[in-house]
Amino acid sequence: MSLELRYQAVVERIKKAPRPTKFNTNRVRLIAVSKTRSADDIRSIHELGQTAFGENYVQEALDKIRQLRSLPLEWHFIGSIQSNKTREIAAHFDWVHSIDRLKIARRLNDQRPAQREPLDVCLEVNISEQAGKSGVLLQQLPQLAEQVDQLPRLRLRGLMAIPQKATEFDEQRAIFRRMREALLDLNRQGLDLDTLSMGMSGDMEAAIAEGATMVRIGTDIFGPRTYP
Ligand SMILES: *Cc1c(COP(=O)(O)O)cnc(C)c1O
Repeated sequence: MSLELRYQAVVERIKKAPRPTKFNTNRVRLIAVSKTRSADDIRSIHELGQTAFGENYVQEALDKIRQLRSLPLEWHFIGSIQSNKTREIAAHFDWVHSIDRLKIARRLNDQRPAQREPLDVCLEVNISEQAGKSGVLLQQLPQLAEQVDQLPRLRLRGLMAIPQKATEFDEQRAIFRRMREALLDLNRQGLDLDTLSMGMSGDMEAAIAEGATMVRIGTDIFGPRTYP
């Protein structure tokens, strides 16, 4: 299948995916995950109307951001964050989905260039409580959210997760429901979060059914990845 047909099929799936009743009108934004893909592939998808792209690796992303700087693209950092990369991320990205500790949030806050808008961020939650995986545990989420919310150069927008793989739709949904409940809990405590970044190629319908506002899709748009 061509890139164009794959992309259109994903857009259609998002359009048709049932929303939770309370959020029926929710717009779901598509983040095209372009890690390992060329600048030319990104340009082709942009020509079909896509503006938001997700990247995991800083150096690779910076090369593409530079090559494509004449286009009005929105860049989302979704990979794990090392302290020594925060300056580049703060300078070149519009969103960061993968904050899971205060130290990284503080560095991004301090390093966000003054001439740019505050950085939109999500906290990554280790929602399946997998050992050795990135993300904050639910018990520690309220405290981290309060602390990050205080940082003036960041705008805390919501939560992100990469759950443990599940093949059954109901099982996928149950995990995403925990994310929705966590977001509602934080808002009841006085935060004002509007973003649930959840759902990838294998589980986006389940994520949308539980209120995802952003889905991050790589494989179903670009085809299988081959790592160099
Ligand atoms: C690679 C990646 C995706 C996209 O995954 P696909 O299964 O290819 O759609 C989404 N989110 C994160 C954080 C990723 O690293």
